[in-house]
Amino acid sequence: MPKQIRDLLRAEVQDGRFRLAEVDPAATPGLKSHKKALKDLPKHQAQLFELQERLYAEHKRTLLLVLQGMDTGGKDGTITHVIGHLNPQGVKITAFKQPTPEEKRHGFLWRIRRNLPATGQVGIFNRSHYEDVLVVRVHDLAPLNVIERRYDLINRFEKEVTKERTTVVKVCLHISYDEQRQRLIDRLKDPDKHWKFSEHDIEERAYWDDYQSAYSIAITRCSTSDAPWYVVPANDKTYRNWAVTRVLIESLREMDPHYPQPKLDVPRLVKRLRA
Ligand code: AMP
Ligand code: MG
Repeated sequence: MPKQIRDLLRAEVQDGRFRLAEVDPAATPGLKSHKKALKDLPKHQAQLFELQERLYAEHKRTLLLVLQGMDTGGKDGTITHVIGHLNPQGVKITAFKQPTPEEKRHGFLWRIRRNLPATGQVGIFNRSHYEDVLVVRVHDLAPLNVIERRYDLINRFEKEVTKERTTVVKVCLHISYDEQRQRLIDRLKDPDKHWKFSEHDIEERAYWDDYQSAYSIAITRCSTSDAPWYVVPANDKTYRNWAVTRVLIESLREMDPHYPQPKLDVPRLVKRLRA
């Protein structure tokens, strides 16, 4: 059995702390070369598709992929290039933006619960409940004691979801400060990408270190056996797609979903169809 990519990417909390700064955003753990990633691609996409089909047919469990990362980190690209190869009928994608006035009238997990995927589906959160301990922490959008309580609430929530037969896979797409600059410049150079450009992203760059620290705290506090965090170095988009695909394949293989096997009297049914 080849080495599990999840073991290479799982965030390790050492001496009570995880430090995002110690993960090289340009690394490619578990992958020998680009050539290998491109060669693996069709095979991996077929494997992922087949596993998703089984999950959907089995109709008993759910996989939830939580995607987090800095602006331009590749959340949208991962959804296009990895999730785009799944059967859309069994996929539910939710992007979490700044809370609406209605969402603000409820606890931070309200909108999350409302958007959980149904049985048999693969759910994708493009940003998530973690924003409420990330952007909210960086910009003091809530009192610190409220934020501090949220880590436990998140752990409790994820435990509860796991008990309801959902496998929670949390992926942090990790890019460097320079890579983000380059991606923002690329967006500016391509008029077709201007719609994605927000001057706000430049302002947020000033808080880079605060975000890295908020991520490190969230990953430290919320890496649980129920719902581990995987940190995917994401400067290299080919690696990112390869790694996320592998993490999903490994998670689904562990779930081992099965096609239902209803007892059918096949000869009789075929006869009926021929009649
Ligand atoms: P994007 O994902 O680029 O469309 O941007 C969505 C924006 O919504 C990001 O700037 C997030 O930080 C922000 N956002 C998401 N969730 C929250 C939240 N709970 N509180 C404040 N801002 C949020
Ligand atoms: Mg954005």
